[in-house]
Amino acid sequence: MTKTADKVWDNCLAIIKDIVEWQHFKTWFEPIRPVEIKGKVLTIQVPSQFFFEYLEEHYVNLLAKTLKRELGKEARLEYRIMVDSGNNKNKPITTDIPGQGYKIFTNNEMDFPLVINNPVKNPFVIPGLKKVQIDPQLNPIYTFETFIEGDCNRVARRAGKTVADKPGATSFNPLVIYGGVGLGKTHLAQAVGNEVKRNNSNKVVLYVSSEKFINQFQDHSRNNAINDFIHFYQLIDVLIIDDVQFFSRAEKSQDALFAIFNHLHQSGKQLILTSDKPPKDLEGVQERLLSRFRWGLSADLQMPDYDTKIEILEKKMKNDGLEMPKEVVKYIAYNINSNVRELEGALISLLAQSSLNKREIDLDLAKKVLRNFVKTSSKEITIDTIQKMVCDFFDVPYEKLLQKTRKREIVQARQITMYLAKAFTKNSLKTIGEHFGGRDHTTVIHSCQTVKDLMDTDSSFKESVMELQQKVQLAAM
Ligand code: ADP
Ligand code: MG
Repeated sequence: MTKTADKVWDNCLAIIKDIVEWQHFKTWFEPIRPVEIKGKVLTIQVPSQFFFEYLEEHYVNLLAKTLKRELGKEARLEYRIMVDSGNNKNKPITTDIPGQGYKIFTNNEMDFPLVINNPVKNPFVIPGLKKVQIDPQLNPIYTFETFIEGDCNRVARRAGKTVADKPGATSFNPLVIYGGVGLGKTHLAQAVGNEVKRNNSNKVVLYVSSEKFINQFQDHSRNNAINDFIHFYQLIDVLIIDDVQFFSRAEKSQDALFAIFNHLHQSGKQLILTSDKPPKDLEGVQERLLSRFRWGLSADLQMPDYDTKIEILEKKMKNDGLEMPKEVVKYIAYNINSNVRELEGALISLLAQSSLNKREIDLDLAKKVLRNFVKTSSKEITIDTIQKMVCDFFDVPYEKLLQKTRKREIVQARQITMYLAKAFTKNSLKTIGEHFGGRDHTTVIHSCQTVKDLMDTDSSFKESVMELQQKVQLAAM
């Protein structure tokens, strides 16, 4: 059964209608006509180039997401633009935009559609001002080449690459890179800056931390020189602001950032921001700024998986001309799960220990060093401990956990215990099952899945699990 273009588009509209304000919906979605559907490609007709650009700039993620729901992961959108042809009013020319620019990339992990856009025109030029020499403040070691790609960062890395190739000319403006500490935000943001400089040394690139920006702003405001400050930043072609969470509650600095942001964005200049949380969760930041952060693309960085960790370690070693047994590399990768900075830190500690003690790097040394290094693995937590903690928490007798009781509270406590045992101990599923009156590994798998599903749908259940998780984590430290 294939769906018709009309049907697919109707379904998309039904969703979009609920999300977009009524007036915007009327203006930007009602005029669109579905044209055809070929495989996973839906073609829609829009009234003008401007219309098309507006959609790409403001609704690209929404379009991609809804379309993906209809057509699956490979969904793509193509536009046809009606062009008024002066003397022949009755026959609008329909142009097909070359497909290449409009692919929708998706990432299974993050459910994050990307649409790559064509260049935005209208570059703003400040008359009479020559390009000034501004040191970009970049660290040359932070490049794409040294930034290993994995599922954990694929969307962000690719978006960064796209931006670096066409700064200011894609819909990823601003590009917001967010994620926890030590996961590579600064590295990736600077890689974009370095790449822009490499492609085109005339571009004015500037990297600045939010703290520095705020300090500079405060200095300038004391000296009545806020305009100078703002004008300076408006000269930049690619502005990278790191850790924007520090703007929270810095009201006046936010005003300056707002003015700079608007000017640069309107002039087709690129903004790259990093944050330790998604823009929507940035408390103490003005809504008008947050809404602008949402204009572009927000992409997150996660902790790399095991294989990616290995690759990162090997790359580091290669760059620094180091060697160590593969089993040691594997051991580090397996045991460090906090962030990439700690992963590197473990490697460095190990090297330091080996040269201080004039000792070869081997698994024994690695175990010793990592014991001091990773807090969480310093104490092994057992299944029994977790069982006792859960029983205390829910006030459930320990024996019940092991029996075949089907009472709901008991079943849930048992499932949560298995889930935590899986997360916090290195025991096999089989061993875990054995600790619950000899259940088999499929029961454990099923329990873990049930807990995950319930956490998605039941917030009070989730709260309990999170609270317990914290207790277990603390006990493991
Ligand atoms: P953040 O700014 O998010 O706190 P950083 O950018 O400072 O994190 O990254 C911490 C360290 O981890 C840096 O040395 C960086 O080079 C390294 N790093 C992070 N992600 C990767 C990656 N994907 N490939 C290689 N090195 C990485
Ligand atoms: Mg950083």
